[in-house]
Amino acid sequence: MSGDIQNLDQQRCGYVAIVGRPNVGKSTLLNHVLKQKICITSRKPQTTRHQQLGIKTEGANQIIFVDTPGIHASQKKVLNRYMNQEARSALHDVDVIVFVVEALKWQEEDDLVVRLLKDVENPIILAINKIDRVESKQRLLPFIEKASSKLAFKEVVPLSALNADNLDVLEKLICSNLPTKKHIFSEDEITDRSSRFLCAEIIREKIIRQLGDELPYELTVEIERFEADEKIVHIDALILVDRDSQKSIVIGQQGQRLKSIGSQARIDIEVLLEQKVMLKLWVKVKAGWADSERALKSLSQFKDHNLY
Ligand code: GDP
Ligand code: MG
Repeated sequence: MSGDIQNLDQQRCGYVAIVGRPNVGKSTLLNHVLKQKICITSRKPQTTRHQQLGIKTEGANQIIFVDTPGIHASQKKVLNRYMNQEARSALHDVDVIVFVVEALKWQEEDDLVVRLLKDVENPIILAINKIDRVESKQRLLPFIEKASSKLAFKEVVPLSALNADNLDVLEKLICSNLPTKKHIFSEDEITDRSSRFLCAEIIREKIIRQLGDELPYELTVEIERFEADEKIVHIDALILVDRDSQKSIVIGQQGQRLKSIGSQARIDIEVLLEQKVMLKLWVKVKAGWADSERALKSLSQFKDHNLY
């Protein structure tokens, strides 16, 4: 018993935020540290909309990652404003911050992140990513020097998230900056977000991308069925909108819009789950659902599946 007590005393545990402008490789870094794909990555910025927890427990250390949405220089769009706020609030609630930048590519948006980090008192680790792209080390050194001088960073690590190069060093530095605290999650938990939730997020993301300002962001996606057999994962999802007019927008002429949302979502979900997927989407108006007869008739269905 005394052994257990001593063990708990030595445990380190804390929240870690990964911040940086879009496209520097935050999600790639998180996925590779966790050795499991739990974030959606893409060449396009703004893939990550929500804070996401990823948990890595190894021995006495437990790192709880918060993958913040990108911090955007442009305040014009509502979505960007929302993400900025979300990113900002995350910064003060964590124990360690990993600020990711791209080697040799310091941009105005990086300075914006620096400004947001200025009043943060927790340790900040500067991760200089994509060093695999740098051919001459001579160019890298002055960049590291210049970037390091932007803030009082606790640590600076050049790395490649894609090749998992130097990620072990980053992990060690994170752990050494974690507070001594009892672990919050059990050892086998990797994320608190289930595959179901991530699929719903992917579908929502496709709707928002395709319809932009035509729709309010409050629309919700519910996963009604999530069943895997040996060959394929069957997913039925319900898109809930506020009004009939919004329903027509999501469905589009002859169902074309819904079809395209479904195809795009299925492709991403297949990558996420690493399995073939049959995706069925329905659109439903939230209000008046009590009249189930009428509601059933108004259900619009779209099936998307590839017969490989
Ligand atoms: P995020 O917007 O910061 O989350 O960036 P992502 O993780 O989505 O990555 C953006 C792009 O950069 C993707 O195409 C990644 O494959 C690529 N990328 C990320 N890390 C590295 C790296 O270490 N080296 C190279 N060459 N590409 C990377
Ligand atoms: Mg991302």
